[in-house]
Amino acid sequence: MTSTHIEADQVYVACRPRDLGRRIRIVSYTPGHDTAQIVDADTGARPRQISVWKLHDSATTRYGKPRTTGYVRETTAPEPAPAQPWLVLRDRHSRLWPWQWVCTATVGRPQQTPATCPDRGPARTEDHARQAAERHAKSAHRYTAPEA
Ligand SMILES: [Zn+2]
Repeated sequence: MTSTHIEADQVYVACRPRDLGRRIRIVSYTPGHDTAQIVDADTGARPRQISVWKLHDSATTRYGKPRTTGYVRETTAPEPAPAQPWLVLRDRHSRLWPWQWVCTATVGRPQQTPATCPDRGPARTEDHARQAAERHAKSAHRYTAPEA
């Protein structure tokens, strides 16, 4: 329904339960037009047109009820993994401590200019550097590791 968001390669899923999640893919759409060119998303077959008024961004209506008609946009983008607030680097100048970790967390109290945490440390192995960085991030920045 919000035709400004329709673009080629978007996938939409049928809202009507008995369509069993039938998926369509936008082949082309000219902004402002009432119809978009589509194919079956899974096979690329059956090229046809669809009224853009059947394409929705949200699976619920603006009154909060689940949609039972038309198609709703499928969000295929995976959740981005939480960024680890550190870098593990190779230190070429040290034989004994050839690895180091560098904290990249942003720190600063409210009303202060944010700065990058200055903490860093040497390590003997890449694994140790990562573990030390994680320990630091947990205690200093309340970082929680994503579930494996
Ligand atoms: Zn830090």
